[in-house]
Amino acid sequence: MRLHVILLAALAAGCTTTTKTSTGDAQQPATHEPIAIEAQWENYNPGTVDFEITTPEAAGADIYQRIIPDPEKYITENARRVIQTLYFSPDDSIPQIDTIKYVVRDFDGISYKSGGGNKVRIDYSTDWIEKSFADNDTAKLDYETRGVIYHELTHAYQLEPQGCGHYDGKSPFWAFIEGTADGVRVACGCFEQDFDSKDRPRGGNWMDGYRKTGYFLYWLQLNKDKDFIKKFNRSALEVVPWSFDGAMKHILGDSEENSIENLWNEYQTAVGDLAEAE
Ligand SMILES: [Zn+2]
Repeated sequence: MRLHVILLAALAAGCTTTTKTSTGDAQQPATHEPIAIEAQWENYNPGTVDFEITTPEAAGADIYQRIIPDPEKYITENARRVIQTLYFSPDDSIPQIDTIKYVVRDFDGISYKSGGGNKVRIDYSTDWIEKSFADNDTAKLDYETRGVIYHELTHAYQLEPQGCGHYDGKSPFWAFIEGTADGVRVACGCFEQDFDSKDRPRGGNWMDGYRKTGYFLYWLQLNKDKDFIKKFNRSALEVVPWSFDGAMKHILGDSEENSIENLWNEYQTAVGDLAEAE
């Protein structure tokens, strides 16, 4: 069983992963409408949502119920948004999930996905809900909650690359898993899509996972192939053993200009993180 955790550095000293959230971001526009669900996914069954609040006494539980009166519908629709970002059509080989157990409860952290096979479980922290609602901004809490769901649900439906390590915080496998999850979150509009936004961490490497890899995947989608994220996900089946370099050349063409190093440098230069080579 793998456990994908998003943790706040401030809450968990020593944790290796952090996430930028919209909390406290005064620049955030008041509304971020959810992306439209395409007709072909409108009736797609992403699995049965089994929703539960296990610490109803927590303030965040009460807030959640007021903001999201129909969690089953909310989670189902956001699952369809994730799936349409990862797949071309319902005929693709999409992992079949029977049950999405979604638990709102009091714990330190933000959210994580556990479980495997056709049963997944996502836990969401009432403490985090409370923090995200600190200034009583309903739209902001919805934006944050949806962003977290996009990330965790990506883990439920994404394909998993083979022959490139394990979920260890450093392998290509790990960077694929966590990079795709934040790439989907950006593509669905729950991190700012402006590369100048402070949502986008500067510099780094494609192997850093999370937003560093995620924004790169989104940039490739805007600049190299409008279906990039779908093809990147599918490369897990088509490039074995999987590697970033192999996947890029498989998707964009087998030439040196599409090496992972070249594409990363092109991206870094384009977004202004790297000075143009002399
Ligand atoms: Zn994750």
